[in-house]
Amino acid sequence: ARQFTRPLNDLANQWNTLLSALAGAERVFEVLDEEEESGDERAAVEIERVSGAVTFEEVSFSYEKEGEGDTLERISFTAEPGEMIALVGPTGAGKTTLIQLLSRFYDPDSGTITLDGRDITGITRDSLRGHMAFVLQDSFLFQGSIRDNIRFGRLDASDAEVEEAAKLANAHSFIMRLKDGYDKQLGVNGDGISQGQKQLLAIARAILANPSILVLDEATSSIDTVTEIKIQEGLQRLMQGRTSFVIAHRLNTIRQADNILVLREGRLVEQGDHETLLKRGGFYSELYQGRFEDTEAD
Ligand code: ADP
Repeated sequence: ARQFTRPLNDLANQWNTLLSALAGAERVFEVLDEEEESGDERAAVEIERVSGAVTFEEVSFSYEKEGEGDTLERISFTAEPGEMIALVGPTGAGKTTLIQLLSRFYDPDSGTITLDGRDITGITRDSLRGHMAFVLQDSFLFQGSIRDNIRFGRLDASDAEVEEAAKLANAHSFIMRLKDGYDKQLGVNGDGISQGQKQLLAIARAILANPSILVLDEATSSIDTVTEIKIQEGLQRLMQGRTSFVIAHRLNTIRQADNILVLREGRLVEQGDHETLLKRGGFYSELYQGRFEDTEAD
């Protein structure tokens, strides 16, 4: 029913808007708040500590308030702190929208999303997003040094902390091979390094940010095997102990998930782990047989 063509996902676009207006994370979110979002509700509060428990209770949402069908229809699930949740389903199924609701780029039309038991519409956007980090497919870097690009994760981090994060992300070794190292200037959108290297920087940035909640949009484009292994290792370290939501395309990722949310036309048609869902022989197993991009066995 929806005929929107979207070259990139909205989240990535919004993120880029943010980054190009960069002055600092808070200021950036203010820009978004003013231009694209309604202000925080007067009663919204800041939250300091978060363990990362997330629930969706009968969440429905539609971009167009008139017209047939919801973009997301009565979605319910629970994510325990530290769990990895994979979002799976065909293009247009609602995976990105679910993430956008979780990060309050939009609010549900009905139903409730909670973080640590608190309705997120009662949490300020700045504060909510301060507990989240995003590793998206594309162009999340800005013009400036590699060091500053990583430091964007936490603006008061020292150089030593930036390097420590880069080491954990498996980015340090490639950075040290560059002539200017951490001072290397990247172009607009981080141009000047490979796609895979950009991802390693995004992982380093997220590690530095040390969020309770992580959103990953797994790359669909192919990356050389050596870099891919580094990325996977870096992601493992990043996800450790955080609640992560992964828009997943690769079987190897999906299999690791504690819970797989299988979306189809805005509905959550199945959820469970890989083995459970395969046994069911439903939509997931159909996807498994044909549509995952990386279906090789272990
Ligand atoms: P997925 O991430 O699974 O590919 P999306 O959440 O991006 O799915 O999209 C779900 C549906 O919502 C699609 O039909 C899409 O066209 C529509 N949609 C997404 N973003 C917008 C928007 N900003 N305005 C209107 N419709 C949108």
